[in-house]
This record gives sequence, structure tokens and C-alpha cells, in this order.
Amino acid sequence: MKNVVTLIETTASGALSNTTAGLLGAAAKIGSPVAVVAVAPGRGAELVEQLGAWGAATVFLAESQSVGQLLVAPDLAALTAAAQALNPVAVVAANSVAGRDAAARFAARTGAGLLADIVDVRREGETIIGTHSVLGGDYTVEATVTAGVAVLTVRQGAIEDKAPAATPAVTTVVLEPLQGPAATILSTKAATALSDRPELRGAARVVAGGRGLGSMENFALVDELADALGAAVGASRAAVDAGYVQQSAQVGQTGVSVSPQLYIALGISGAIQHRAGMQTAKTIVAVNSDADAPIFDVADFGIVGDIFTVVPQLISALEARSGT
Ligand code: FAD
Repeated sequence: MKNVVTLIETTASGALSNTTAGLLGAAAKIGSPVAVVAVAPGRGAELVEQLGAWGAATVFLAESQSVGQLLVAPDLAALTAAAQALNPVAVVAANSVAGRDAAARFAARTGAGLLADIVDVRREGETIIGTHSVLGGDYTVEATVTAGVAVLTVRQGAIEDKAPAATPAVTTVVLEPLQGPAATILSTKAATALSDRPELRGAARVVAGGRGLGSMENFALVDELADALGAAVGASRAAVDAGYVQQSAQVGQTGVSVSPQLYIALGISGAIQHRAGMQTAKTIVAVNSDADAPIFDVADFGIVGDIFTVVPQLISALEARSGT
């Protein structure tokens, strides 16, 4: 099987990013997953076992003194070195801020075609075909790269296939000191976690609230259901604009795009700009008092009812089931 070079991101503390398993799963659909990680010298060995458990057939550790000191440049240099060494059929990165940046630069430098923000991928013979959810999620289109290496960025959480665990072959290279202009990291500060709920982007379950909640106090109902399900909290822009919840929770065209296993929309009408950010969820549940609300057009399960009646019953049922 042909190599698929997969850019693995690490956190400021050197741990593997939560996009790792999904990326290796996507890579395994089209070839043999190679996990490429830019690491500070001597810091790669601790990552190998977990990368193998998530399906990396090969681990390519690119050691650089610039890791943690320069933005993007170490990832780009690692990708370039891996692509030169392994002659891959494709390059895969997360559609995160860092992944998009590295993938786009790699594509521009090598003249490769870029399929951005794919929600699925497959291979037909030698052709790699990416699936995109476009125009507010109303259309699903397929695209392919006709020449050169296909560079793909994968929407977080969209591809749930898992690669089988492997015992990876490990290659370690030492990158030359990085030349040229690059943004320098002067300091890093961990964002204060506002709660111990999962992060919205990449969460497996999301409970989102809209204007139907009516107030910031009432929005606690969304938090409560999210906690009962171990879910992240999302919101419509109307709920954000009304001050019920912080902007980082906004799902949609001008907010976060999510592809969870379960998306529960509470008091959200389902405007196209909202659907653009959640329509690729695997199962959508909507609770709305208006039977004609457009959210029901995309919902797998719809409840026409008052959220203040339905949601407390749902929470009680979940608590009864878990014995709390
Ligand atoms: P509404 O449309 O007001 O719907 C509220 C719903 O709650 C209604 O369907 C009502 O029936 C229901 N309801 C009320 N009370 C109850 C109750 N007690 N029980 C059950 N149901 C109840 N929106 C986004 O969400 N994300 C975006 O990223 C985004 N980007 C945008 C970008 C642009 C350029 C523009 C123009 C708009 C954008 N919008 C976005 C706004 C979008 O068009 C809608 O205005 C917004 O999504 C509406 O939010 P909502 O569904 O919460 O509110």
C-alpha cells in the first residue's frame, strides 16, 4: 500500500492532539498511514506507542530545535522531509488553524492540489476522492486532484473510521536549522478552561441552544443536558448575540463547524447559516415548539414541544438510567 503522510499536531506540552486518531483513520482509508510529527530533540519516542495504537504503520519523527519556538515552520519542514523520503500518494492534515496553514504552504510550495475541509475520503484505483459538504451543507460534492500528490485537510470529527492498531516502523530525522522568515513564539499560555466539558470542535456529542432558550439563566438547561450526556455546549448566533453564551460556542457559517456523532438542537430554528456548521453530524435531534421549523428538515429525530417541558424529562430519564 502507498504511503499517506499524515501531519500529527502536538500540544504546547508535547502531547498528541485530539485530532490524531481521526487523521490516521482517514489516512488508512486511502493507503498506509505514516504519522509525521515535528518534535523537540529526544521528545518523540514517548509518542510512538500511542501512534501505533491509533493505526500508524510508520512514525516519522522530525526533530527540530525550532519546535515550540517557530509557528508552522517545523511542521512544514517535517512534512517536506517526509514527502521527499516516502514518496506519498497523499498528504493529510487536520483542518485546524495549524493544519490548514501547513497543508496550504506545502501544496503551494510543491505545486500539489489541495482538497480543503473534507468530510470523507476514498480511493478509486490511483485516484483519491475527497467529499466536501458545501453551500451551507445543502450539497455534498466530490473532488479530486488530477496531478501530483493530493493534499487533504480533514474536518475535525467528520471521519470516524479507525485504523487498526499497528506496531510502527520508526524513522527519526534531524531537520536542518530552519531558515527564512517565520513567526516566532515568544510565550505560550494555556487558555483557561471554562469548564471540564469536551471542547466543541471535535466533540463526539454536542448539545446546542438557540434563541428559544429565552435568557442566559434558562441557557443553564443546555449546560445541564450537556453534562448529563458528557457533551460539549454549542449555540446559534442568535443565542450568542443575545448574550446567553460566549461567542466561542457559536456553531455555523461564522462559527465553529462540528461533525459529532450526536447533535441536539434546542430551540434552534435551523437557519441555513446554522445548518452549515452542523449538518454533517451523524445523528441530529431537534426539540422545537414550531412543527414547521427548518431544523426538522435535517433532524433524524424531532420532538415538537416546549424545551422547558421536554428537556427536564430527558435529563431525569438520563439520570435514572445512569443511577444518579
Ligand atoms: P430563531 O431563528 O429565532 O429560532 C428560535 C427557535 O426557537 C424557533 O424555531 C422557535 O420555534 C423555537 N422556540 C422558541 N421557544 C421555544 C420553546 N419554549 N421550546 C421549543 N422551541 C422554542 N446563525 C448561526 O446559528 N450560526 C452562524 O454561524 C450564523 N452565521 C450567520 C452569518 C450571516 C452572514 C448571517 C446573515 C446570519 C448568520 N446566522 C448564523 C444567523 C442565522 O441566520 C439565524 O438568524 C440564527 O441561526 C437564528 O438562531 P436561532 O435558531 O437560535 O433563533
